[in-house]
Amino acid sequence: MPSQRHKDIEILDRLGEWEQREGSLPQFVELYRDLVRLQVEAGSRVALPEPHLTQEAATGRVREGLPLLGFEDVRLDWGLVQDQFQAVTDILGGHLVPEAGDTQALADLARNMPLLQQVARDWYQGVSLANTAAERCVTEELLNVVIQSALRPFLVAHAEALLPLVKQELWRRRYCPICGGKADFAFLDKERGARWLLCSRCDTEWLFQRIECPYCGTQNQKSLSFLTDEQELYRLYTCEECRAYIKAIDLRKTQAEVLLPLERIVTADLDRQAEEAGYRPG
Ligand SMILES: [Zn+2]
Ligand SMILES: [Zn+2]
Repeated sequence: MPSQRHKDIEILDRLGEWEQREGSLPQFVELYRDLVRLQVEAGSRVALPEPHLTQEAATGRVREGLPLLGFEDVRLDWGLVQDQFQAVTDILGGHLVPEAGDTQALADLARNMPLLQQVARDWYQGVSLANTAAERCVTEELLNVVIQSALRPFLVAHAEALLPLVKQELWRRRYCPICGGKADFAFLDKERGARWLLCSRCDTEWLFQRIECPYCGTQNQKSLSFLTDEQELYRLYTCEECRAYIKAIDLRKTQAEVLLPLERIVTADLDRQAEEAGYRPG
């Protein structure tokens, strides 16, 4: 079984324990759980692809700063993408997410294959979905969330197949070595306290500098700082130049097995803290 799927199953177990302990889960965690369940189901229908690059070709791309997986390289099963898109829309609608707006418009989009393909390509290549979203009367943020969830099972499968080809020391860039996405979480490793980033799109982990903003790239020490909690387990890295933040966990401070994708969710208080202080997610 691909290990990412295994991780998702462990996340569901942890959420189950959390629910037992507390009696119920906060609404945003329930929503997250429904989305993870969907990922697990879809993951069982996505085979682990063979890498489309040799080690040599991959290292060449890494040296040039080119992510390994272009949109054309992603082997997408469009029927499954369509099902996923619809299922994510249903989940958001079911949780009455206020931004969900007209989920019917999203359902129409899911049935329009050429448009769905365009949305997937644009999103992957970092082209703004603002116009498409406006034409469909949904928010751009919502459209991003839905297409990202619909494509995730494919991206994580490719990421898993390709990551062994990435020589981490050669990369150290601000975007994902597999899909080119931005980071939305970080961690300090157990061994040396080196800082790694986690891709918001495919969950790839990559080695990064301790002192550099993962968004604007400044290395000016005066602009970069972090806050930490009493146990020093979590950090909130902030940048004065672009006013962005990224959350991190210090794996040297815990013996427990940490599931990084879940840490994004359980650290919601840090997001609140950061936004109150005037920072925005990177
Ligand atoms: Zn990625
Ligand atoms: Zn910055």
